[in-house]
Amino acid sequence: MCIFCKIIKGEIPSEKVHDDDICIAFKDIHPKAPFHLLIVPKEHIAKVSELEEGKHDHLIGHLVNVANKLAKKEGVEGYKLQFNVGEKAGQEVMHVHMHLMGW
Ligand code: AMP
Ligand code: ZN
Repeated sequence: MCIFCKIIKGEIPSEKVHDDDICIAFKDIHPKAPFHLLIVPKEHIAKVSELEEGKHDHLIGHLVNVANKLAKKEGVEGYKLQFNVGEKAGQEVMHVHMHLMGW
């Protein structure tokens, strides 16, 4: 099982800030911005390029909605939402996740 699936199952601890039917959000262990969360779908999908048209159409929109709500709640005014897709682009954890990096 991948590390993010273990976090989702609670087998590895995380600083969780959000949990719903579709995704969880937790603090990045090595923050690259003053506010750095990972927003992670509960379904194991290795990378964004493996999302299926029709089946996963709702997913990314949901992650963005959650990101907007969390940023607003925390008073983060400016932020980047980032997906690294594939090892060449710096993806280290092969389970889809959206970075929310805020200032
Ligand atoms: P990426 O390079 O897009 O695959 O990003 C993976 C991110 O996961 C990195 O920013 C890591 O710091 C973060 N990360 C790895 N392991 C953990 C963990 N156990 N808890 C929280 N964040 C993690
Ligand atoms: Zn996984």
